[in-house]
Formats: sequence, structure tokens, C-alpha cells
Amino acid sequence: MSVFQLFQAAWTYLREKNRIYRMDYERLLELAGERLRKQVRRAYCEVPFYRNIYRGIEIDKVRSMEDIKKLPIVTKSQLRDADPDKIIPSNSENFIPVSTSGTTGKPLTLYVSPLEVIHGLLGYIRALDRHGIDWRRSKMAIIMDLREDSAETGYMKKFLLKRFPSMFRNVLMLNTNDEPRKIMKELESFQPDFVGGYTGMLAHLALLQQKGYGNIHPSRVASTGSCMSRKLKKFIEKTFDAKLFEVYGATETGPISFECEHGKMHVNEDLVIMEILEKRIGKAVVTKLYGGGTPIIRYSGISDIVEIGRTNCKCGLDGMIIKKIYGRDNLAIYRKDGAVLTPSVFAEIFSPLIYRLKTNRVRATKVIQHSLDRLEIRVVLDEKNVDVGDDEIMAEIEKNFRKYMGDIEMIIRKVKRISRKTPTVLTKVNPEKLPRLKYL
Ligand SMILES: [Zn+2]
Repeated sequence: MSVFQLFQAAWTYLREKNRIYRMDYERLLELAGERLRKQVRRAYCEVPFYRNIYRGIEIDKVRSMEDIKKLPIVTKSQLRDADPDKIIPSNSENFIPVSTSGTTGKPLTLYVSPLEVIHGLLGYIRALDRHGIDWRRSKMAIIMDLREDSAETGYMKKFLLKRFPSMFRNVLMLNTNDEPRKIMKELESFQPDFVGGYTGMLAHLALLQQKGYGNIHPSRVASTGSCMSRKLKKFIEKTFDAKLFEVYGATETGPISFECEHGKMHVNEDLVIMEILEKRIGKAVVTKLYGGGTPIIRYSGISDIVEIGRTNCKCGLDGMIIKKIYGRDNLAIYRKDGAVLTPSVFAEIFSPLIYRLKTNRVRATKVIQHSLDRLEIRVVLDEKNVDVGDDEIMAEIEKNFRKYMGDIEMIIRKVKRISRKTPTVLTKVNPEKLPRLKYL
């Protein structure tokens, strides 16, 4: 990165960090519209994939949330099936490849520019700011997905850490694929003020501390990556004597929303446009409003079902909020009456194992819906630390599933391993044959 780029990055940071707090809503929408216009233009002029799908559309007329509807929706498989040179802008600079985790299929690789990385980080720094964490001074532990080609490895290790090592003197980066006990040991010797990580990992760490295998007291904890049940949130907060807030984002889109100090999930409307194709609850379609890498415009591939709303919040933001994240629609099962059990329901079903049974023996699960009347749940249990018996765990899982699924045939099986290559939830039920769907 050149001195000029560094200056540009610093300038972006100062200008953008709290910008949404200083603007009224109309002005914010204008800014978003202007950025949208630039991204659409850039996509059309520099990226063959978009040039192809925008053929025949007057792209110069796309400059608002309303106009955006003229553009086609882009799916994950469309981007995944495109050749890399079709989704890399032709004015190619030093792009960084980042891949999605591939938990629901083949991973998708996208290309981001260095400045884009910094711009995206602002969405997270903004959240830290609202909760009194100074990212330059507070001792921060971030438990990330540090597989070789993950987005986090791309952003943090290969790019930021290499170029600005001094920026990370107060930051401990840990790998969420490591054993929770190992992570807890490192956290204990670091004693962070802030811990950020995936929901499942945070739950494991809280349980370890409750069992006497750790002693950390961050004042703030941020969770990301999957749905958090209210009771699990309380359990983590109580264990660490910390306040927990959620941030929501995706590899493809960067940070989408953050929970403010008053508990509202504000959409970063200067960074993304969030659309719901249905009325209020439905599949999220996201447009990224910054960056010079692979454009993300009307992208449905994060596949999350969300409920949106608008609020004038005490924190000073007036605009779109996410009322609830239901999770991925391709990790759902169905009930006869059209009810859909999404990951937010699975969070309610499985998290009592942590906060009620106090066990982290469950290493992996797989839910297979064979038909509307037949459900199979496969469970991998840790055989080394048998703190709670197999039967008790299976009974808890069954009881919690029955609350939602009622009196159907349910097979709960202990298995040795579950392939990470296939999705954790599979259904053979065709939802199109059901009555009107309703997300639980
Ligand atoms: Zn707020």
C-alpha cells in the first residue's frame, strides 16, 4: 500500500466512522443513492459478469432505493459459476481473494480491494464505538475463522496485519477452529476488555468458565455468525459479567448491521442497501455500496430470512433496523401447517444443552427431514468429557424438537462423525406444496 493509499484510508476512516450519526435520514438515503449509482456504473463498465446481465437496462437511471428494482437479482450460484476473470474488475489492482465458509455448499470466492477492507472494518468499529470500546487502546480478543482462504484470514492476516502490524498491538487474534480450552487458556493470559467471536464458540467459552476452566472478565462481548437465543445471551452475559451485543454481516457484503447500546439492530445504510423481496419478513437481498473489487449488487446469496422495520432510536439513529434474523432459508425444515423452522428455532432447540444441561459434549448435529411426519437428528458427542449422560442429552434434544414439531416420528441417533461437506440441515419436503409459509 502506498503512502497515498494510506492517506486515503485514514481519510476514509475519519470521514466515515460516525457519519450516519450526523446525518438526517433523507441525506443518508441520498448518499446511499449516490453510492449505488457509482457501484452500478462500475459494475457495468468494468466487470464482464454485470455488463452481461445489465444489457438493455438504462443503468445511469439507477440512483435510488426505488430504481434498484430495475436490476436483476444476483444469486450465489451465478457468481460461483462465473469465471474469476468475469467477476474481477478490469482495472485490476491488488485484489485480495476471499471465500465464503461453504457451510451450505461449495464456497464462493470474491475479490476485494485494500481500501474496501478498511471501509468494511468501519462498520465493525462503529459498533465497538457505540459500546465504549476504543479499538486503538482496549485489549481486544477476536476469535476468527482463520482457515487459509477464509475472509477473515484474507482481511486480517494477509492484509491488515502484514501492512499495519502496530495497529494490532492491543489485539489478540484467535482461531475459532481451535479447541475451546486452548482458546480459553490464551484468553486467560491476555485478559481482554472485549471478546468478539462466533455464537457457538462464545457459548462454549462461557460454559468452560462456569465449570472452572477459565477466568476472564471482558466488559463487552460481541457475537456474530448465527442466531442467538435470548436465554443463551443472558447465560453468556451473566457468566462473564459483560454486556453482549450482536453484529451481523457476511463475507460477500461486509458488515450489514450492528446492535446499538439500546439493543436495536441498525442497518449500516451508508454501507449497504438491505431489501426484503416480500413485505416485511423474507429473504434478504443486499447491495454493497463501497469498494473496488467484485461488485455485490442485489445479491440474494446470503440466503438469510430477516424481518425489517424502521425506528427512531434513542442512540440518535433514525432509519432501518433488523427486528429479527431468522437465519438461512436453506437450513430450514417445515411443518404441515406451513410453519418454517429456521436456524433461529434451532438455536432455541439446541442452546438449552449449554445453559440448562451445562454440557458441551455435543460436537456436531445434523437434522434430516425425511417427510412431514419423519425427522432424523444425528448427534456427535464428545466421549472424553462425559459430564452429562447420553440419554439425558438425547432426551433434551427430543423434548425441545417436540415443542415445535409435535407428535411426529422422531429418530435421534448418536453417530461417530458428520461430514462437514453437506449442510447441517436437510429436508426432503417441498415447501411449495405446503400452505402459506410462516416463519417461527
Ligand atoms: Zn440505536
